[in-house]
Amino acid sequence: MPEKPYDHNQIELKWFERWRDADFYKAEENSSKPKFYVLEMLPYPSGTLHIGHIRNYSIGDALARYKWMRGFNVLHPMGWDAFGLPAENAAIANKRPPREWTLQNIAAMKKTHRRFGFSYDWDREVSTCEPEYYRWNQWFFLKMLERGLAYRKKALVNWCPKCATVLANEQVVEGCCWRHEDTPVEQRALEQWFLKITAYADELLADMSQLEGGWPDRVLTMQRNWIGRSEGAEIDFHLAETGEPIRVFTTRVDTIYGATCVILAPEHPLNETLLNADQKAQAKAMVDARAGRDPGDIEKEGFFTGHYAVNPYSGEQVPIWIGNFVLMGYGTGAIMAVPAHDERDFEFCRKYDIPVRPVIRPVDGTLAVEPGMKESFGDYGIVENSGPWSGLPSEEARSKMAAHAEEKGFGKAAITFRIKDWGISRQRYWGTPIPVIHCPKCGMVPVPEDQLPVVLPDRIDITGTGRSPLENVPEFVNVTCPKCGEPARRETDTMDTFIDSSWYFYRYCDARNSKQPFDPAKIAYWFEIDQYIGGVEHAILHLIYSRFFTKMMRDIGLIKNSEPARRLFTQGMVIAEGAKMSKSKGNVVGADMLAEKYGTDTARMFVLFAAPPEKEVDWRWEGADGIYRFLGRVYRFATRATAGTGESDRKVLRKLHQTLRKITDDFETRWHFNTCIASVMELVNVLYAEEGKISPTALQEILEKVALMLAPFAPYLSQEIWDELGNKGPVFRQCWPAYDPDLAKEDEAEVVVQVNGKLRSRIFAPFGTTKEELEARAQADEKVQPFVAGKQVIKVITVPDKIVNIVVK
Ligand SMILES: [Zn+2]
Ligand SMILES: [Zn+2]
Repeated sequence: MPEKPYDHNQIELKWFERWRDADFYKAEENSSKPKFYVLEMLPYPSGTLHIGHIRNYSIGDALARYKWMRGFNVLHPMGWDAFGLPAENAAIANKRPPREWTLQNIAAMKKTHRRFGFSYDWDREVSTCEPEYYRWNQWFFLKMLERGLAYRKKALVNWCPKCATVLANEQVVEGCCWRHEDTPVEQRALEQWFLKITAYADELLADMSQLEGGWPDRVLTMQRNWIGRSEGAEIDFHLAETGEPIRVFTTRVDTIYGATCVILAPEHPLNETLLNADQKAQAKAMVDARAGRDPGDIEKEGFFTGHYAVNPYSGEQVPIWIGNFVLMGYGTGAIMAVPAHDERDFEFCRKYDIPVRPVIRPVDGTLAVEPGMKESFGDYGIVENSGPWSGLPSEEARSKMAAHAEEKGFGKAAITFRIKDWGISRQRYWGTPIPVIHCPKCGMVPVPEDQLPVVLPDRIDITGTGRSPLENVPEFVNVTCPKCGEPARRETDTMDTFIDSSWYFYRYCDARNSKQPFDPAKIAYWFEIDQYIGGVEHAILHLIYSRFFTKMMRDIGLIKNSEPARRLFTQGMVIAEGAKMSKSKGNVVGADMLAEKYGTDTARMFVLFAAPPEKEVDWRWEGADGIYRFLGRVYRFATRATAGTGESDRKVLRKLHQTLRKITDDFETRWHFNTCIASVMELVNVLYAEEGKISPTALQEILEKVALMLAPFAPYLSQEIWDELGNKGPVFRQCWPAYDPDLAKEDEAEVVVQVNGKLRSRIFAPFGTTKEELEARAQADEKVQPFVAGKQVIKVITVPDKIVNIVVK
């Protein structure tokens, strides 16, 4: 056969056309095969897919194709996380309705998806901005409302006085409005909706033991920290003038004799009566300054209120301060500061010259002396200068002192969580309307289930002012009360878009159901997800919210599983030519551009080849060139190779089966696709070297198996080779080729030779060669000679078939 050039455009377009209307990738409804649910996180429809997306999808696609070839009934769906702020910003900037903008982006991205030939079951496509989908967000909300898992309370929002609008956190830039860089953002208290995720805090934490081994440790650690369970005590200090209690939460009640002040959050309710007008203004400024910032990044500041609190253990009076780093959302919104034994308190008290009083002695040391402490001592130790508790170890003092508080009625042992209830109200247009009506007579009335969905009005003016753009749509706002029939007002807040992504993967199992969110029997078959794949940036938020939704759905009786995904894989980022990709730098590597230049097979193979999938990949154009050349080499060999008499059969078949063994093992365990692809490259080198010396039968077997083993990584090229070899049907519908362990076996062992533990050479010897012979050959090896010549051999350690280590002096 004459060699053919690798014309990626011709090959890919040909199969793209032929496969366009075929439904190879449909999951079977009633299958006797074992099931495998593989899922990549659904994208936000920004308009373009870049190489980072391609990496995510290429990993999932390779796995899906491999599992198909292994005989599984595979579910591999895709959808769109279609609500969100960018659509609204685009609407303001370009005067285009968010819906139009979003649908156009979806169409463009889907085209790219199809061009790459990712193996999705498009019949199950889900788009979260469609009423068919978000009506079930509303339905879940009503279920949670019935159960007290959804509730309303006042909470702070970011407010730009110039725009006269509520801002999302991402619209606050360094404390100022994104559109008015000179206007500091204020915090205003509004009635908002919350989901009671804290009701599941204990279970979310405990069930992580089921995820160990299947989820990355890093993700589990981030979730543990986010949930942040601490055991401690709630203790009532008292306002000196009135005796009014001030409840503090502490994890170290054993240090309470070292408390030298009480610090309240600037938004603490007690401030209303405690502070004068100037102080109130100062406290409000502190709250405002937090807008859009991580409280941990703010410089600690505070002021003395002029009031004192009484320590219930010692009877001592300590000053009451306001501190910007104390948050209402954690514990009780009030802390006792023990600067000698807490780093943050130490920093604050040194800044304001508040006394530092050591009361915990290191177990094998002496009590620190003040003045003169350079840093706090935060470990457990022996309690000192603490009345009747002196001399107790910290652990014992903690439990005894908490019990004492409970007995005397001024406190108790308590557990607190860092995780807060999930604030889901957004004063935005492009999201799911919250299905609630406010009636002057009946109060808050849920929209009856049979009136769902509450549909977003389509054409509205988004001006960027006011509480929510929906407030300016009378047809939406003005309704009659479902209870009394009188005029009432519809809720204008929409839901946080993280709700959309908290359960979308259930909907894929029954995407067109109009009676229920899904048929529970289908979930029972497909769940848990066997492999979830996405970026580590979703370790908290999305991956905690979806675990919460799963538990909530189980408790309302819809599903049986308690966790959504058995295994999670977090792929590394893709950077380009050493730098993070960003629109402003203009270095975003777009998927369409790649498909044009090299073809989609090369783009997929490059991101899989350049690094192990969990590591960062640096996109290099010359790296893509290398992969392109390799694919060309495979194709040219497959189309031109001539057979011979077969003197190299043993050698090439051994290499073939070794390569198959390596790829099979990797799919089943660690997914080091980079080394898998490298091993195919080695195989191809051997094939070129032995060309003309391989028998016709062996050559046919080898080429077919090369096509099959490349099918998960480069489906178009594999199909073309499969076709050229005279085979019928899609290559990725064939059985995954089994490797023969006997054929894969080496005739000779590769024995590593070390001198004083350093690698110096490798020798090849028949399996089972004796120790003596290996040692003799090792010492005679010419690469080893320079390191042993003229030296005294002290001993030689030999493991037959593996290693010889010569120890010299
Ligand atoms: Zn503004
Ligand atoms: Zn009413």
